[in-house]
Amino acid sequence: MTLTRHPITERNRRVLFRPREWALFTQPRAVVGFVVALVAVDVLLAAVGVCTTAPRAGELLTAAVIVASGAVCVEAMRRLGMPQGMVRDLLGVWWIPVVLLLPPLYSLLTPIPLYVLMQYRIQRAVMFRRVFSAAVVALSGFSASTVFHALRPGQVVLLDGVAGSARSSVLLNGPGIGAAVLCAVLFTVCNTVLIAGAIRLSVPEEPRRTTVWNSESLLLDTVEVCVGLIVAVLCALSLFLLLVVLPPVLLLQRSLLFQQLQTAARTDPKTGLLNAVAWERVAKTELARALRTGCPLAVLIVDIDHFKKVNDTHGHLIGDQVLLGVATTLSHQLRQYDVIGRFGGEEFVVLLPGADMAEACRAAERLRTRVGRMALPVNDTTVTVTVSIGVALLRVHGRDLLELMAAADLALYRAKDSGRDRVCLPVAKSVGVSVRSADEPSAESRDS
Ligand code: GH3
Ligand code: MG
Ligand code: MG
Repeated sequence: MTLTRHPITERNRRVLFRPREWALFTQPRAVVGFVVALVAVDVLLAAVGVCTTAPRAGELLTAAVIVASGAVCVEAMRRLGMPQGMVRDLLGVWWIPVVLLLPPLYSLLTPIPLYVLMQYRIQRAVMFRRVFSAAVVALSGFSASTVFHALRPGQVVLLDGVAGSARSSVLLNGPGIGAAVLCAVLFTVCNTVLIAGAIRLSVPEEPRRTTVWNSESLLLDTVEVCVGLIVAVLCALSLFLLLVVLPPVLLLQRSLLFQQLQTAARTDPKTGLLNAVAWERVAKTELARALRTGCPLAVLIVDIDHFKKVNDTHGHLIGDQVLLGVATTLSHQLRQYDVIGRFGGEEFVVLLPGADMAEACRAAERLRTRVGRMALPVNDTTVTVTVSIGVALLRVHGRDLLELMAAADLALYRAKDSGRDRVCLPVAKSVGVSVRSADEPSAESRDS
């Protein structure tokens, strides 16, 4: 194996010695500052901790057994496979006993082997993201552990075996459980706040509720805290009891990952919308319902105008951000029961159940004007785009999805041909509604 035959390896090596080319430094300055500061604080605290905390055999043994249990979970994840993007795991279940049973230094150190294992056994994530995730867990764990040991002064139990009875008192005595719950919650809250902060800095337009502050995340966090506390109590009673708790944790994690894999299979990774296959499935169901009940229904195809120019001028990464921006703007303008998906490239499809001709054209005009007003900041300037939209109505332009899509596509071609940045109906069967947005002439009049 030579370097010239493996240009990727060679490139990686080159990049390794050129910090300016690291993925981290392509991020906004605020993100770089946040990540670097967080890792620096962790390293500093770990250095101070290593100098001031005397290692004890019992603590090292406990840490090793917990890390080994976490490693079993990581291996189990590897077998099932991991979806792309932000993935929820159940590793918090193992951090909570470390936070509660061991001195704070261990909360800083134990994430390292497990995140290294994840990086090399499961998925090679962008390095700075992996390091950041580990640093977040470490700092959250350290903070929660410090508070717990401060709340229980004199109760920091020095573990000295696999079946010590004294150490269980730290958790099982009355106030111990209350303090443990408080600190496990504190750990989870710190974790979530730091992750949410990083997302906010890197994607300012991301709605707060969608990623980390939704009811699903809250439920998962609650489960993680509860199971983590159970693991901590069992661990405090005897390290052998980890053998009892490992299978149910593995099963929980498996079902969590399975659910995420299912969601990922339906989702377009760049925009978070339904992908074409999943959209078609949902659309067919809605269409069958509309035919059965006699309700109206409309299909829109939305295409970004001159998107190639955006890529050519600003690069594909900015192009991807524009795609995400358009997807987010479109989603925000739709009702909860409208179905939006990414059809492919720079095209989106929208199904409007219950929308008649006038309503569909009004909705399309709203989407067009809102996207037109969108301004994405890039370096010292802003990127703006427009969209062309083709509209097709059930029973007017077709009776099944294929016919409707063909009609909407035809309408889209009309919009492109007649100058772009407009909404059109398919020429042959249009019924001549007048659609007028707040600041534009009617769609049909523009392209007639
Ligand atoms: P028109 O107004 O006629 O639609 O022109 P256009 O440039 O938008 O259309 P064209 O089909 O010529 O180019 C589409 C471009 O979309 C070319 C392709 O590189 C880009 N594209 C497709 N998928 C992606 C993507 O996922 N990310 C980025 N950044 N660009 C994409
Ligand atoms: Mg296109
Ligand atoms: Mg286009």
